[in-house]
Amino acid sequence: MNARADTDVVHRFVAERQDVRGQFVRLGAAWLALREHGDYPAPVRELLGEATCAAVLLASTLKFEGMLTLQLQGNGPVRLLVAQCSDDFRIRAVARYDAARLEGGFRELAGDGQITVTIETSRTGARYQGIVPLAGESLAASLEHYFASSDQVPTVVRLAAEDAGAAGMLVQRMPSQGGVQAEEAEATEASRSREADLTFGIAGAALTGLGADELLRRPAAELAQRCLPGLDVRLFEPQAVRFECRCSAERVAGVLRSIGEAEVREILAEQGAVTVTCEFCHRPYRYDAVDVEQLFAAAGAISPGSPRVN
Ligand SMILES: [Zn+2]
Repeated sequence: MNARADTDVVHRFVAERQDVRGQFVRLGAAWLALREHGDYPAPVRELLGEATCAAVLLASTLKFEGMLTLQLQGNGPVRLLVAQCSDDFRIRAVARYDAARLEGGFRELAGDGQITVTIETSRTGARYQGIVPLAGESLAASLEHYFASSDQVPTVVRLAAEDAGAAGMLVQRMPSQGGVQAEEAEATEASRSREADLTFGIAGAALTGLGADELLRRPAAELAQRCLPGLDVRLFEPQAVRFECRCSAERVAGVLRSIGEAEVREILAEQGAVTVTCEFCHRPYRYDAVDVEQLFAAAGAISPGSPRVN
């Protein structure tokens, strides 16, 4: 069995002729790249992996162009956790935590708090936001609560993460499509609806029963079929998921210029170099004396209203 084949992808699947659908995501190399420069303690790392998969699952259920941000805020030792996924499945994530107090399960780590899901559309810049309180004993349970309250779509979610990988799967009971116009429409729809309820119940129980190890390693097709036993399951072509942080040397240079030359030179004098670390990927951007010189020489050249043309 080659588990790698179904890694760093998100898969949609459906039960044919049923109003039940699912999504499956598994991360390997993308997960390692995401925290390449970070060093998270195991409990934070696991929660971060689960949240990243949750963001991918959310993004995969929606039609949008832009960025989806899942933010978990609470009064536990994991104060803040942010996972982002674009419409084309570029991911990044960050956690802020109190290392001295990392004990217990999800609720001990997150405390009382909330999950905020924000969608920023790239074309119009419009923002949509949904907020739910943390519920149940897992991030998956909170996510189920989110789907139930924001989309009114019954959803079962399963998430798992470890050092080398992270995975997530959900099954949703979609609203019936309707569209039957004949006399027997009502009877047909009622029967179809009962069937979908039954399928969703079975799928939810199967998904909940999946071990973390299976979710992290078994082939996607097998997992989808196990959630929809005895049914004609269609697994759609996978879409690639990859880590990509939006930070860059140009953005960091912009931040330093906005701080101002005097202050940057002060830090340089004190520390011998100015280091700015990206909050998301922990990549350090280091500026020595020569770099700082160039930074402000260039700023002078391009600053608006400057009469100088170099
Ligand atoms: Zn970055």
